[in-house]
Amino acid sequence: MTPPESSPGHLPSGATAGGSAKGLLAGRRGLVVGVANKRSLAWGIARRAHEEGADLAFTFQGDALERRVRPLAESVGSTIIEPLDVTDDDQIDAVVETLKDRWGRLDFLVHSVAFANREDLLGRTVDTSRAGFATALDISCYSLIALARAAEPLMTEGGSIIAMTYYGATKATPNYNVMGIAKAALEASIRYLAVDLGPKNIRVHGISAGPVRTLAASGVSGMRGMLKVMPERAPLGRNITVDDVGATAAYLLSDLSAGTTGGIHFVDAGFNITAMRHPDRNAPGG
Ligand code: NAD
Repeated sequence: MTPPESSPGHLPSGATAGGSAKGLLAGRRGLVVGVANKRSLAWGIARRAHEEGADLAFTFQGDALERRVRPLAESVGSTIIEPLDVTDDDQIDAVVETLKDRWGRLDFLVHSVAFANREDLLGRTVDTSRAGFATALDISCYSLIALARAAEPLMTEGGSIIAMTYYGATKATPNYNVMGIAKAALEASIRYLAVDLGPKNIRVHGISAGPVRTLAASGVSGMRGMLKVMPERAPLGRNITVDDVGATAAYLLSDLSAGTTGGIHFVDAGFNITAMRHPDRNAPGG
């Protein structure tokens, strides 16, 4: 076993291999789970975390995605790029073992993973099969609990964990179906994990993002309609971007949010606070 790279706790702020010398996350080491390509919300978070000085480790789900994830990870100076299917406990253990060997410590974890079978994202929720329900909840919710448990022993100086959720957790949303149920369970998990891990100064947060065109989102029919409604109804009169998500994530992963845990933070241009489209707002900017 190679000795862990020296602890940022003993380094000048941010003086680490991959991160920059200054920034909100200077000297911090974080694991990012859920990059599929450059449109991924996780990539928006990773890019911003890198700009803020963090050293990053990445995982990829299967060989096909490795070809996309590896160059992205390398472009932000990452040298820890590991396979991970979140349904496989052995792979979770292997990733954590690698982080322990290489870094000895972890400061943050980004969970940006969801999956439901295509047939369960169409039609009626009442027709969801037992197997489809189990798959969606296992990958989209239980994986946060499993990863938080695995990361906990490495977060020896406290830490921050974020997971990605959606408004469909609390409001019935067309076609979101079992994924809405999984997100509701994910949001509850965030609260329970925040209570469990708070005494170790490990904070747990949800980011509830507005719709963004990504690989996972292409599985939800009606995406085009959601993207059209946002500029008409959201107070900010626009759709959100992965950069918006990355900026809020940087705050939640950093000490700026030191007094914050267990909450769901909307990055949705304010959509969730509205009951309907304002009659004076017909078009973007209207
Ligand atoms: P994405 O397709 O870029 O990312 C989803 C990721 O989940 C992929 O990297 C995929 O490899 C990973 N994944 C799926 N099953 C996995 C498994 N078994 N093991 C390991 N990884 C697995 O899409 P995205 O939109 O960036 O999704 C990221 C998160 O953001 C998800 O939790 C999603 O529900 C959430 N979210 C997305 C939107 C949106 O509109 N795009 C809005 C709100 C929340």
